[in-house]
Amino acid sequence: MNAPLRHADKNFAPLIRQQNLIDGRWVDADSSATFDVTDPATGEVIATVPNSGAAETRRAIDAAHAAFPAYAAMPLGERVALMRKLHQVILDNLEPLAAMMTAEQGKPLAEAQAEVASSAAYVLWFAEEARRADGAVIPSPVAGRKLMTTRHPVGVVAAITPWNFPSSMLARKLGPALAAGCTVVIKPASATPLSALVWGHLAEQCGFPPGVVNIVTGSARAIGAEITSNPKVRKITFTGSTEIGKQLLAEASGTVKRMSMELGGNAPFMVFDDADIEAAIDGALIAKFRNAGQTCICTNRLFIQSGIYDRFVEAFSARVAALKVAPGNEDGAEQGPLVDAQALTKIEAMVADALAKGGTLVTGGAAHERGGLFFQPTVIADATPDMRVTTEEIFGPLAPIYRFETEDDVIAAANDTEFGLACYAYTKDMARMFRLQDKMEYGLIGINEVLIVMPEIPFGGLKESGLGKEGSWQGIDDYLETKYTCIGGL
Ligand code: NAP
Repeated sequence: MNAPLRHADKNFAPLIRQQNLIDGRWVDADSSATFDVTDPATGEVIATVPNSGAAETRRAIDAAHAAFPAYAAMPLGERVALMRKLHQVILDNLEPLAAMMTAEQGKPLAEAQAEVASSAAYVLWFAEEARRADGAVIPSPVAGRKLMTTRHPVGVVAAITPWNFPSSMLARKLGPALAAGCTVVIKPASATPLSALVWGHLAEQCGFPPGVVNIVTGSARAIGAEITSNPKVRKITFTGSTEIGKQLLAEASGTVKRMSMELGGNAPFMVFDDADIEAAIDGALIAKFRNAGQTCICTNRLFIQSGIYDRFVEAFSARVAALKVAPGNEDGAEQGPLVDAQALTKIEAMVADALAKGGTLVTGGAAHERGGLFFQPTVIADATPDMRVTTEEIFGPLAPIYRFETEDDVIAAANDTEFGLACYAYTKDMARMFRLQDKMEYGLIGINEVLIVMPEIPFGGLKESGLGKEGSWQGIDDYLETKYTCIGGL
């Protein structure tokens, strides 16, 4: 039974769903077990959702499998119309959806609003891309034959999503899957299930048939094991840590599924002597402190050229120290809480490690006086390669700053990581911009700009940061099979 709402006074209360969605029905876990969803700013319980496992997941996969033939055969115009409705209903609910996200995830409300708008934009983009998912007629090298390719939805897609962008990471998966004609089983992050469960409610409202969108919350290990081993799942799309991504790749090999992986990052942010320093500082603040530093494309390492190093450290740190740390729904909040106590402990340990290895604490460095999961926006100068912050994804509001001398040095240092998701550079030298484009081993390169993500671009990492692209015309490709047909005897 749907538990009573604890936030009946909140504008998002009518959107809260506290059950799994399987085959068009909202249902509890078989065992009736639940777990709490809490507000990281206050610790308050917002909702309880099912603690499900393999059996519920199997039923969700069966439902998606049964719904697939009819949904795949739905005329494209009807499918696109459903997608357009979904786009509109997200925009119509933007305010409460954003408030709900801030309540369960902690990010400032303005960031949550931008994320919901971005989710809607991805849905619309893929609705439009579905109309262009065409095949080809291939010129035949021999007489009497016609050679053609046609494209078809891959089948049941399982989508596993993280807590840091609980809506837009799902939009990039659900958007292309639904547009291509696939049916879906979603396993959202346990910290932020509400922003995923609501998609089930919105999809129902738009008229997507039962079984097309299924959502199961609960044990990651049990749900994941069912998804990876079940032959009815033809594709897994995962956004999360590299560690879990590798595990899923290994587990799914037994049933040879399509795999898309959006994994961890270790983004360098390079500022050259010739850069517009003010613009670089503006960019660094966003690239480092957005979502309290809990972003896969967040700056992990700031490399500043020696000629402007001292000026940059001083001016950047002053701006960092002035950031407003507050619950995401408070006016003017710029940095919310961290997601959980483990994240806070990790940042504390990283600060201690960096200081023990010779780093200079310029600002912050400790839990915030607000208490709970708030941490001070932190800058550590004189960072060195032997520090944990150099090799590990920080995922928090800690900016380590490294000094560099030459372009070759910084490119080598920036590329010296197994990750290859995003990198940033500030320079006015046009020739250098093109050298960076060639030499940086990253899937996303921002030069004099940090807000580089939009539906039109192919988002995805190189090296151990992932497989495949989300967004752009490439984003729907992974949800389509290409069949080749040869008609002979003509
Ligand atoms: P995570 O621990 O890897 O979890 C991601 C998702 O996988 C969650 O839904 C989690 O469920 C689930 N999961 C955990 N163990 C699993 C298992 N054994 N089988 C199946 N699913 C399992 O990552 P996170 O902490 O949520 O997210 C942060 C990470 O995501 C960072 O590394 C970040 O860089 C990465 N990320 C990458 C991108 C990108 O586009 N490249 C975007 C955003 C985030 P539970 O929540 O129930 O554990």
